[in-house]
Amino acid sequence: MLSALALFAINANATEKQLLSPDGQITVTISDSNGCPSYSVKLGGETFLENSPLGLVLDLGDYTKGMSLTDSKENIKMEETYFLPTSKQNKIEVNSNGGIYTFAKDGKNIYSVEFYVSNRDVVFRYNIFAQNPTYCCVVKEEASGFKLPSNATTFLCPQATPMGGFARTTPSYETHYTVDDQVGKNGWGQGYTFPCLFKNAEKGWILISETGVNGRYFGGRLMGKENGLYTIGLPQEGEMNGLGSSTPGLSLPGSTPWRTITLGKTLAPIVETTVAFDYVKPLYEPSQKFTYGRGSWSWIIGMDGNTNYDIQKKYIDFSAEMKFESVLVDALWDTQIGRDKIKELADYGKTKNVALYLWYNSNGYWNDAPQSPRNIMDNSITRRKEMKWMQSVGIRGIKVDFFGSDKQQMMQLYEDILADANDYGLLVIFHGCTLPRGWERMYPNFVACEAVRASENLAFGQNECDNEAFCATIHPFVRNTVGSMDWGGSTLNKHYNYDNIHGNTRKTSDVFALAIAVMFQSPVQHFAMAPNNLTDAPAWAIDFMKNVPTTWDEVKFIDGYPGKYAVLARRHGDKWFVVGINAQKETIKLNITLPMFSANQTVKLYSDDAQLQGSVKDIKINKKQQVQITIPCNGGCVINN
Ligand code: CA
Repeated sequence: MLSALALFAINANATEKQLLSPDGQITVTISDSNGCPSYSVKLGGETFLENSPLGLVLDLGDYTKGMSLTDSKENIKMEETYFLPTSKQNKIEVNSNGGIYTFAKDGKNIYSVEFYVSNRDVVFRYNIFAQNPTYCCVVKEEASGFKLPSNATTFLCPQATPMGGFARTTPSYETHYTVDDQVGKNGWGQGYTFPCLFKNAEKGWILISETGVNGRYFGGRLMGKENGLYTIGLPQEGEMNGLGSSTPGLSLPGSTPWRTITLGKTLAPIVETTVAFDYVKPLYEPSQKFTYGRGSWSWIIGMDGNTNYDIQKKYIDFSAEMKFESVLVDALWDTQIGRDKIKELADYGKTKNVALYLWYNSNGYWNDAPQSPRNIMDNSITRRKEMKWMQSVGIRGIKVDFFGSDKQQMMQLYEDILADANDYGLLVIFHGCTLPRGWERMYPNFVACEAVRASENLAFGQNECDNEAFCATIHPFVRNTVGSMDWGGSTLNKHYNYDNIHGNTRKTSDVFALAIAVMFQSPVQHFAMAPNNLTDAPAWAIDFMKNVPTTWDEVKFIDGYPGKYAVLARRHGDKWFVVGINAQKETIKLNITLPMFSANQTVKLYSDDAQLQGSVKDIKINKKQQVQITIPCNGGCVINN
């Protein structure tokens, strides 16, 4: 009885604050009930996140309990318009309401939690105060949690254990997703890779991720706990060969990255959100106006042995024929081609308006990958010398592979490579790597990260080809929603081999290949096409690929369900591309409304028959601006004007 009374006394003193989205539909409630900072989230009056923990354990003390909400700054308006041509949407308008809530312990203010709520996103971060004479700290634990309703289901991929996989290069965000699973699990014991998608029963969808991570913090993951609770996980100690630190250091006053929650009754807010970019700022100016676009690469069909002068020259000719802007010269070019011959190739490419990207190994002491060039990108002296050479030869960009850690030290390496590359006019693609967390806006020469089970796996295993459509219907709703995705696909080969007879068999259709060229977003796309496609692929498919854009003004969710099918639309200038794919055994028939086209407008429809034979025809949009589409299993459809 006494303890119940005591509890009542504490609760009676609890302070509760509410923050509403501009349209009033999303409500965030911040509380210090029982001395534990917490928050909850509702959409349209329905609970999307139950009372969820906030707080930090620092080397200075445990600031997850015994805390009180002492002060708040409310009615903050955030309104901003910015341009981000390398993301899913070029012109972005931010409109959100903010509040800053200060928490104290033993009479001393420790941190504030800064929240913003837009009509589709909730974000928060910690601003930790200096405690004279203490002006730095170590974050031992971040208690930030997300408590899903118990009947929610999950669409997650497990975080891999450290120093595993090919040449001890994990974690590299390449595990398989499980769809519509129950809450209460924890992957392979090490939580889940961001972003994490949840379905709130029949009420809607929730996407949880983070943004604004640079060399001043670690890349987080979600740890699955009991009763639907997920909390921020620190990097695993074994990453980076056990070196570096799992716990980040912060200069004080200092801020953590943003924790992001995107929610909606449908998947539209998840597909269309720009939350990864809205609350971060560019960290430097671009050194030049960069060129993006398409490219080809021999490695996906030809593997290591074909990174030689003659084949790369052939790919330059192929890119030129396809009107592509680049060729990616993959691993081992330093020994199999050499720097002098790379200059010759770059000069040859210039005569055909085709620029080169060069592949590098990131290591370092954190993987066993033998592919060279090695031990250049991990050190500022060797890196800058190499980049100076690349600039003198006219290389367009680099693709750096095999990182395998989210520790603060590795985040610093990503940032240092980007900053140096900008100085030498180079674009940067990361592969075998972490998720980009706002990097499109933070680093103007950043292109994309892999951080997905990418096209290379189709060359490695037939079972991956068998499951290609299943995986492809997940990415537009999860991985690709928060950042550019270097998937490296869209092949028109029937087999993953130059002779197009041997090698793993592609199960998806040619129209599927066109659809994912639009569906998977990255401002630079190195397609898996090969020179033989000029003669052995359908002319309508080649023509489409010659003209497909890689930068977009807008994206619209149309329909879909992760793991089953996906339909979305992207706009480039005044051209709309409505694309769909289907992974289900049954052919789907959808009557979709397309307000981007006018009644009676003639558009092109690329579609598959039941045998996955593709064709293109002109169709007329009807008076209701509706089109009926039919997509067989492993097939696709594309509608464009
Ligand atoms: Ca990979």
